[in-house]
Amino acid sequence: MPAAAPYSLSAVIFDFDGVILDSATMKTDVFVELYGQTGGPFEAAIRETIWRNGGLTRTGMVAVLDRAILGREATPERIADMAGRYAGIVDKAIYDCPLIDGARELLDALRGTPCHLVSGTPHHVLLGIVAAKGLDGVFATLTGAPDDGTPNDKSAIFAGIVAANALDAARTLVVGDSMTELVGARHIGAPFAGVVAPGIDDPFPPGTATVHDLHGLAALIGIEGTANL
Ligand SMILES: [Mg+2]
Repeated sequence: MPAAAPYSLSAVIFDFDGVILDSATMKTDVFVELYGQTGGPFEAAIRETIWRNGGLTRTGMVAVLDRAILGREATPERIADMAGRYAGIVDKAIYDCPLIDGARELLDALRGTPCHLVSGTPHHVLLGIVAAKGLDGVFATLTGAPDDGTPNDKSAIFAGIVAANALDAARTLVVGDSMTELVGARHIGAPFAGVVAPGIDDPFPPGTATVHDLHGLAALIGIEGTANL
């Protein structure tokens, strides 16, 4: 493959939180707050669990946290209550989160290359924050989680995007900050680049291409090409 990207890419599939919007740390902080203890091993265990399970919907994360941290299966009522409290904080605070460094410049540079947005955030919340950040019209498609809290399967969504748009998966770059997106990229046979914020442990297997921000991604795909991803 020629190393002249981004124009050699058929498309790019972006995750949102921690990739386009600098919101991942805020969201983790809210879970720590909701679980009611800060400091010490309890907080560390919550952060570790979220880090290992990045990319889940909020309802999915409550189920995972209850199992991992509290050692119990969350009832549907418990999940709805916690997800509702989470939404009450996060769905306002998210508007104060800045874009990841280099996001706007990269999206500008990629005009002409279809960019798709896939997020575990509820779809109506995703549309609102994308518009508020001035990103209307930037993405060819936007796919959030169902508003009823049903989990979304990123692997299936990625496959659907490739099929619906007749994309060459091998030239469709997936960009994410968690294993969920890497697994989805492998599922469709697409190259992957991980965004790992400074100070965050790299969650990806050795050999995974990673960048600190989207200036780094622009350098990776613009200068080094996509052959190494
Ligand atoms: Mg993310």
